[in-house]
Amino acid sequence: EELPADLIENNETRQVVEAAFSYVNPVKPKNPKLIHVSNEVAESVGISKEETQSEKFLNIFSGNSVLENTKPYAMAYAGHQFGNWAGQLGDGRAITLFEATHDNKNTMFQLKGAGKTPYSRRGDGLAVLRSSIREHLCSEAMFNLGVPTTRSLALFTSGDMVLRDILYNGNADYEKGAIVCRTAPSFIRFGNFELFASREDTKNLQLLADYTIKHHYPEIKSKGKEKYLKFFETVADKTREMIVHWQRVGFVHGVMNTDNMSIHGITIDYGPYGWLEDYNPNWTPNTTDNEHKRYRFGNQPQVAQWNLLQLANALFPLIEEVKPLEKILNDFPIKYESDYIDMMHNKLGFQNSNDDTKNCIYLLTENLQLTETDMTIFFRNISQVSKEDTVEIAFEKIKDAFYTLEEAKNVIYDTWMYWLILYINQLQKENQSDSDRKKAMNLVNPKYVLRNYMAQLAIDDAENEDYNLLNELYEMLLKPYDEQPQFEKWFAKRPDWAKNKVGCSA
Ligand code: AMP
Ligand code: MG
Ligand code: MG
Repeated sequence: EELPADLIENNETRQVVEAAFSYVNPVKPKNPKLIHVSNEVAESVGISKEETQSEKFLNIFSGNSVLENTKPYAMAYAGHQFGNWAGQLGDGRAITLFEATHDNKNTMFQLKGAGKTPYSRRGDGLAVLRSSIREHLCSEAMFNLGVPTTRSLALFTSGDMVLRDILYNGNADYEKGAIVCRTAPSFIRFGNFELFASREDTKNLQLLADYTIKHHYPEIKSKGKEKYLKFFETVADKTREMIVHWQRVGFVHGVMNTDNMSIHGITIDYGPYGWLEDYNPNWTPNTTDNEHKRYRFGNQPQVAQWNLLQLANALFPLIEEVKPLEKILNDFPIKYESDYIDMMHNKLGFQNSNDDTKNCIYLLTENLQLTETDMTIFFRNISQVSKEDTVEIAFEKIKDAFYTLEEAKNVIYDTWMYWLILYINQLQKENQSDSDRKKAMNLVNPKYVLRNYMAQLAIDDAENEDYNLLNELYEMLLKPYDEQPQFEKWFAKRPDWAKNKVGCSA
């Protein structure tokens, strides 16, 4: 109620001015079915396991009925897409249902794929099963990995068929429609601020900033310009922390447009994301970004800084001073570098930090790129190396990470031997015992991630109404750092057939 609303209650596509959101009702799905629920999310918001199986849960969270005394809405935002100003975008296929409080924690519930809104532009406002499974599984996988993210309460099929023009097989076709109910403290993005700033609507820009700070950053006590500056600095810090986590687990977002950047520093909008298998900083899962690879793995920190520059520009009318904003932006890569180095020390089990450890990290990053090497397997297995190992024994422990072992043995064996000497030497200088180090390393190097082909296999089965694999992957990804013998088969390199195949997002 504190934010200006667009009071025209219809979903006709239009430019919405002087409003932060538009009231809009979800479309009724033809035949909604609950496919999967996250009991963990349900419990965290005070919904019991029994309640998730009720008719009421199905109706409300699939958009079939609107909860009494609530008024669903779609938010207005703009953004920079692939470096270019894109104007008004907004929630084209997302509708926020309501906000609820449980255990003193506020949560917004938002449907993705529940029909058109004023912001749908040329889209249909719908989502397909394929992309909805990807969002549901991945957001929960990320949460369990300790990565800040929106979460996913439940996944439904709608019973409607949805036309998509580019399927992964290249043909236009109808696909099963689906709805995801996702949750977050809020879905406010950098782009919400950019929209008002681009229209020189400073009054609403300030209302939005005041609202955001009051509800989501109450710890900011400063007044006037200082308040907005502190807000910007906090968003920069949270964004940096999120990116360090992405680099730690090998997550590539794929569409880091400013409309996909949360002011909470949480991962949002799971589209053509992917997981790094081969450690290649130039890799992006987004096939529409293949030429410039703007959103490649290794460029995520730089893009985050560029996106923060756009947020700084948007907030500028409230701050009106260049220097302090520049300072925060210029500090970003410096602080990032330092956090990144700390994170890599943890991944390698180093408690010491000096020129030797840094050199070891630098050389490792080079080595990992010499031949196709699986990031997840490498970091999980390097924890098994012990202080007393010979380099030959140590090599045996990491060799499963190489996609072509012969090449690793013939072409770069000496390079790896050299690195392993450095690594084992360093381990001998560390105070931690082998077993304590291994334990600590296994808390930051996941054993199980949602490899792109795994999600695809679950999707293929789900298209035939077989949800066993979806359930299995969900279960496995609840505990990504634990040894889970029943899931050992998923701790393996991507099979050959899955090379260069990633699910798209439309
Ligand atoms: P994304 O690339 O998914 O972050 O989406 C960019 C913009 O396009 C956002 O404003 C989305 O709401 C909108 N959009 C994406 N898909 C659809 C769709 N099927 N119908 C309507 N709007 C969409
Ligand atoms: Mg988006
Ligand atoms: Mg998307």
